Amino acid sequence: MVVQQGIERLFRSLAGYYGPLHWWPADSPWEVVLGAILTQNTAWRNVEQAIAALKATISLTPEALLQLPLGQLEALIRPAGFFRQKAERLQLFARYLVERHGGSLATLLDGTLEAVRAELLTLKGVGPETADSILLYAGGRPSFVIDAYTRRLLGRLGLLTGGESYAEIRHLFMSRLPADADLFNEYHALIVEHCKQFCRKRPLCDTCPLRVDCPRYL
Ligand code: SF4
Repeated sequence: MVVQQGIERLFRSLAGYYGPLHWWPADSPWEVVLGAILTQNTAWRNVEQAIAALKATISLTPEALLQLPLGQLEALIRPAGFFRQKAERLQLFARYLVERHGGSLATLLDGTLEAVRAELLTLKGVGPETADSILLYAGGRPSFVIDAYTRRLLGRLGLLTGGESYAEIRHLFMSRLPADADLFNEYHALIVEHCKQFCRKRPLCDTCPLRVDCPRYL
């Protein structure tokens, strides 16, 4: 598959098979930020437990998060793992938001895409995947999220040679697709769904709907 065609064709194939997923990872933009930090190095089901514990204790606002004693925050988010590090990162993010942007995520996320992204990347614990998740899911900005599922699927389909940087893979998508947050949201959701259903660590190639295009199967 030529890469240009491959990126577009992959979306059509996945969308045709799964239909619209409309995946949205949270009830509010601030919850997206919490989820994007909590999900680092852990499965989403653990994040859901941590967020449920937070919701049962405080209103989900940056101000309320800052008022929580650090030890209590650590205990609440313990299910998500690395809880000390993540509690510190959550409070640092909340403090930055309150002090620099009056607690308004909308204000932080208002600016040119790359300028906002660069600002997010200055925050401790916010790497490219976290920044892009916040931009896409909290801000509705067209910034493609690259995760381990994306690398796995594109690698197996022959669209990556291996060793590409995060920035190179992000560019692969963003240079070939219209800058459309809904499209990026849907595409990422489809990749995640496909990797959960078929392209697992041990792939189920015999029944995979992409097998006719997949060099690993052929
Ligand atoms: S054929 Fe196998 S390796 Fe290829 S995309 Fe499907 S599950 Fe993944």
